[in-house]
Amino acid sequence: MLQQTQVKTVLPYFRNFLLHFPSLESLSKSNERKVLKLWEGLGYYRRARNLLATSKIIVKEHFSKLPKKIIDIKKLPGIGDYTANALLAFIHNQPTIAIDGNVKRVFSRIVNKSENKIDFNKLIDTNKKSLFRTKRHSDFVEALMEFGALVCKPKQPECFICNIKTTCGYFKSDKKFKQVKKIQPKEKNYNVFCYIHKKTNKIALTKKHDLGFLNKFYLPLIEEATTKNKIKNWNFHSNFKNSISNKKLNINLYYKFSLKLPLQSEWFSLKGNNEFIPSFTKKIFKQILNIN
Ligand code: SF4
Repeated sequence: MLQQTQVKTVLPYFRNFLLHFPSLESLSKSNERKVLKLWEGLGYYRRARNLLATSKIIVKEHFSKLPKKIIDIKKLPGIGDYTANALLAFIHNQPTIAIDGNVKRVFSRIVNKSENKIDFNKLIDTNKKSLFRTKRHSDFVEALMEFGALVCKPKQPECFICNIKTTCGYFKSDKKFKQVKKIQPKEKNYNVFCYIHKKTNKIALTKKHDLGFLNKFYLPLIEEATTKNKIKNWNFHSNFKNSISNKKLNINLYYKFSLKLPLQSEWFSLKGNNEFIPSFTKKIFKQILNIN
């Protein structure tokens, strides 16, 4: 849940999730519909699907215990280098470092070099004797993350209270390196078409669309906009911006009243229902709820 999401946002979801699934076994017996419903509003839904799939694999193939080898952990759905190393340290207290944005920034400042000029795995391997002096590997990984978030912060690092400033290249150097700016994702234009059944206050949603990052989720009809002209035979409602995962969307929202359900769609009440509906679709619900 914490991938790309702040702790304060996650907490209520996490607590509620544990109430429903107090153990790995209980999660492994559940289904996607239930898990997604509990995840509703948190975004990055692939995490929920992967978590469910992973719980089933661990229970069935690993006797409900996380494997101890990184190669086996990385075979679990959605687990890459970062998560695998974090798990190895947190669960098995193994000497390893989970390299995230915070850790990269800290190391690059210590050696006073731009991140893209550092081979982080090599750097860790070369310095493993001094890095892994502690036996508390789990605490060390967490401390590094916190240090990056609270002391060696992205914009104004707290160098004067930092306890490693005497050995930090960035602090000591008159020639401080300049960080390469990250390339921001380009905004894409989409047209969203809402068929509305006025009498019952329902909207047509479909899972058949080309938005890979919302694959298998209910959306109104949506297509990439190829022209800036307004679309004929549709009522233009509004324009709004939305971010999903790391994608930036510029949405033109259209609607029309209809008694007929478009192909491969289903009617959904605009006032709420038991199906899992992604936040993006809910945002559209809010916008068109009071159309007359
Ligand atoms: S001295 Fe400053 S730049 Fe160096 S590690 Fe500490 S906080 Fe970061």
